[in-house]
Amino acid sequence: MTRAPSAKKSARPGAKDYRSYSFWLETAGEELTPRPPLAGPTEADVAILGAGFTGLWTAYYLLARDPSLRVVVLEAEIAGFGASGRNGAWCSPGFPVSPGELKRRFGGEATRELMLEMRGAVDEIGRVAQVEEIDAHYFRGGQLRIARGPSQLPGLQRAFESLRTLGLESDVALLDEDETAERVRITGAKGALYNPHCATIHPARLARGLARTVERMGAVIFERTPVTDYEVASKSPRLVTDAGEVRARTIVLAGEAYLARLRKLRRQLLPIYSLIVLTESLSEEQWAEIGWEGRECVASNRHTVDYLSRTDDGRILFGGRGAPYHFGSRIKDEYDRHEPTHEMLRSTARDWFPSLRGARFTHAWGGPLAVSRDWMPTMSYDPSKGVATARGYTGQGVATANLSGRTLADLILGHDTGITRLPTVNHRPRTWEREPLRWLGARYVQRGLMKVDDRAERTGEPPTGKTLAEWLGRH
Ligand SMILES: Cc1cc2nc3c(=O)[nH]c(=O)nc-3n(C[C@H](O)[C@H](O)[C@H](O)COP(=O)(O)OP(=O)(O)OC[C@H]3O[C@@H](n4cnc5c(N)ncnc54)[C@H](O)[C@@H]3O)c2cc1C
Repeated sequence: MTRAPSAKKSARPGAKDYRSYSFWLETAGEELTPRPPLAGPTEADVAILGAGFTGLWTAYYLLARDPSLRVVVLEAEIAGFGASGRNGAWCSPGFPVSPGELKRRFGGEATRELMLEMRGAVDEIGRVAQVEEIDAHYFRGGQLRIARGPSQLPGLQRAFESLRTLGLESDVALLDEDETAERVRITGAKGALYNPHCATIHPARLARGLARTVERMGAVIFERTPVTDYEVASKSPRLVTDAGEVRARTIVLAGEAYLARLRKLRRQLLPIYSLIVLTESLSEEQWAEIGWEGRECVASNRHTVDYLSRTDDGRILFGGRGAPYHFGSRIKDEYDRHEPTHEMLRSTARDWFPSLRGARFTHAWGGPLAVSRDWMPTMSYDPSKGVATARGYTGQGVATANLSGRTLADLILGHDTGITRLPTVNHRPRTWEREPLRWLGARYVQRGLMKVDDRAERTGEPPTGKTLAEWLGRH
């Protein structure tokens, strides 16, 4: 049954049914009973806002490097409540700014280092899941970027070329139509770019498993404890909650899209909703028609992002952007479902895979991700104020958050390592426009890019890259 928005109330009055927020939280293998909230003021060496991947990886690497640290995590809901417990399962080296654009902004060497670190993060997540015995369903199937129609072929060629100029193409392959069909049979697929450096995960199991791991290492997680503000002006920075303040040597702001709810950060990030539909487990006949034995992460080369993965229990997850931006950067539970977008995703999935015609879609959910003004994530630490943050992953945050955790831990502990010199470090994107300009711009770009994609598919001509929507989408 497709989950309805009203499914979010729990039998207990005032409590949320966290399992209803995604298939992943529903199948996390535990009751999701919230940990106790903060009961009063306290102190720590490091106080972290947010128990998603960013906050938890930061806690993990801090404690791995210095087990004596007192680490406190404050989470508004439960660990894994945000994008970390709801995503498309891609653990990929993909980065929101393309290698070509990164090279233009930061030069070839820095771009190459960053791309290699992103690949390393994919491996590192698998390594930690194994060492810490987190049953995260980590499966390294690689990634296929599909040209669905001739208009998308030049984009794949360009992506391959930019990897080649960085010397990163050796195990990446351009596949023709037949080679693509040998891996997965998608209507209209004319070719693909195969990249082996990608895995799928069970996101909620990874987030919940990480939460238990950092607790074992000594961290204390308070759930149902929203941070209402933070202060860095005084000698010791602090996170402010209704139950009292947490003073610390360092505070870490790891709330991704939800950070836009804090007055001080309102214009730093643009929350955009990404939505997902999920089929029932498919039959052997359906899988025989589709192929996809390699369980690669799959996407087309549209501007209006789509992303697919094959779950452990034989379902197809089909995700995409396209749900409207909400005026004032508002985030609400009810925005997780947008029936026109969910229906569009179901119908696109049936177009891609005709054998899904009779299949049931059992789940539909979504959540907010954060876009920075220049699409570049930041991993920052200001020792003079004792504040660190990592955010702005633009929907490509599973592996990036791991890199963030290691980077913030090194920065906070004063370790000068290769990753503390990446172009993401202390990067400061400019702020988003004030409303109503922000709303007008975001909606214009969203609609404009959809039109560009539709036109390219209709005519077979690749996008020119010169429309206003494409230009605004890059700047
Ligand atoms: C539908 C969807 C699909 C996606 N698919 C993919 C994918 O396939 N691959 C990929 O790489 N990326 C994907 N992403 C993005 C990726 O999931 C995120 O970038 C990543 O999980 C971000 O982790 P995070 O810890 O920074 O943020 P989140 O996971 O959002 O966690 C932030 C946490 O902070 C808490 N919080 C926020 N504000 C406060 C506050 N004031 N006080 C206390 N706690 C607070 C929240 O409750 C939340 O638990 C997707 C995102 C969405 C929404």
